[in-house]
Amino acid sequence: MFLVDSHCHLDYEPMADDIEGTLRRAKNKGISGFLTICTDLFKIPDILTIAESHPEIFATVGVHPHEAEKIPAETILFEILTKEADSSKVVGFGETGLDYYYSHSSPQDQTKAFISHIEAGLDKDLPLIVHTRDAEKETIDLIKTIGQGKARGVLHCFSGTSWLRDQALDLGFYISVSGIITFKKAEELRVVLKDVPLDRLLVETDSPYLAPEPYRGKPNEPAFMIETVKKLAELKEIGYEKLCTETTQNFLTLFSKVHFS
Ligand SMILES: [Zn+2]
Repeated sequence: MFLVDSHCHLDYEPMADDIEGTLRRAKNKGISGFLTICTDLFKIPDILTIAESHPEIFATVGVHPHEAEKIPAETILFEILTKEADSSKVVGFGETGLDYYYSHSSPQDQTKAFISHIEAGLDKDLPLIVHTRDAEKETIDLIKTIGQGKARGVLHCFSGTSWLRDQALDLGFYISVSGIITFKKAEELRVVLKDVPLDRLLVETDSPYLAPEPYRGKPNEPAFMIETVKKLAELKEIGYEKLCTETTQNFLTLFSKVHFS
């Protein structure tokens, strides 16, 4: 069984300049599936080119909450997202959500964009990649009211409270673990993650950000994900191989459009 990096940004530097090397180093560590995540509409063509030229790479389309205010008023986001999902390589929508920590876009713009992603997810029955920071209640409220119990997805790079964990699990969402779990000061997060059922866990790098220990501070890349998986296996008190099998199976269950050849 192999590992899938469920959230990376292969179109970002320095990975974009060396995709083949990035993939080779990852595969040497057993990571041979990749979901590259879109953050802005203008990036869609590049992301699709990367995915279409590699059978092991799938993609999402979406607008990061930081970029929500840049969406032109006349743009009908729902239409763009659902149209792009006709590609066999587009397997989810995001990353989307709410970030009231950085607040690079207004709550109104973020909310409007998030709603369009949720509606696209319902229309195409595709999962959402949700980013949430300092907006736990608002995020859950929108998933509940707009998603009507049918929205599917993952809270990516989970760094929330036990309340958020429980709400997400109740909604059938998955919880994705990033390199933060390896940070010395993340004790509180480890306590929250310990009780996530094995069949709801995904793993990711969020590369080029958030490199796990001992690479912290360097540009992250998919190969480094094994440090996150090791730490999570330790926390869950299960074998490394077992965790690889489980998280890959979870990935394929959630992202049901993905078929690795
Ligand atoms: Zn990301």
